[in-house]
Amino acid sequence: MSQLEIKDLHVSIGEKAIVKGFSLTINSGEVHAIMGPNGTGKSTLSKAIAGHPDYTITGGDVLLDGRSILAMQPDERARAGLFLAFQYPSEIPGVTIANFLRAAVQARMAEGEELDATGYYKRLYSKMDLLKIDRKFTSRAVNDGFSGGEKKRCEILQMAMLEPKFALMDETDSGLDIDALRIVAEGVNAMRGGTLGILMITHYQRLLDYIVPDHVHVMWDGRIVKSGDKSLALELEAKGYDWVKQELAKA
Ligand code: ADP
Ligand code: MG
Repeated sequence: MSQLEIKDLHVSIGEKAIVKGFSLTINSGEVHAIMGPNGTGKSTLSKAIAGHPDYTITGGDVLLDGRSILAMQPDERARAGLFLAFQYPSEIPGVTIANFLRAAVQARMAEGEELDATGYYKRLYSKMDLLKIDRKFTSRAVNDGFSGGEKKRCEILQMAMLEPKFALMDETDSGLDIDALRIVAEGVNAMRGGTLGILMITHYQRLLDYIVPDHVHVMWDGRIVKSGDKSLALELEAKGYDWVKQELAKA
């Protein structure tokens, strides 16, 4: 069992406070969805946890299995078991997916340990089968000329190969078409049920039609203001974020 604990986190960009006391604990195997209006700090939260240098943590802590990750470099955080899915993945022309993934898996191994090529391809192909990805896909250059859906497929395959303890997926502003949404959902659903814990950030309820979260949290002005189960997402869809705002005003 692993645990990712976000404790009273405060994050600023420059002088501006964006995340203002965000707390959430995720256990192995759980899928948490964070929903909230644009500009509420959802992407800032995920980038700060990943260790993006533009985001300053001014208070609180993020613990992975009881150990603070805040002093770790982004690559150390990845090695410790965190995976951050990018809203806008980079294109790497000339580098095939097979080689890219191999380098990523190698980078995660302990120093001096060598990746066994036969074992690597066996694992790659079994993950591709699990995610129903065509073998031809691996000989293409990373994200080069990919459609939105293909980029998502590449990202999900990366996640499957790295086998993180926790994945942070920020899908908010990516304008995912229904195809890409389905790919993300199928991938996540294929990997769930084991030990993987997921923090799924989304602006739209639509994604949650495909990935049914165990817990739903509403983020407002940098913190969680309401939590519930999947019915909360449906309620949000029906009543809109103004409903949360009115409830907050009453409280
Ligand atoms: P969300 O993902 O919930 O839409 P963001 O975390 O992207 O929210 O943004 C939260 C606030 O931080 C917004 O007011 C946005 O304008 C601001 N912001 C985000 N990124 C930057 C940045 N790189 N520089 C300055 N302000 C930023
Ligand atoms: Mg965002």
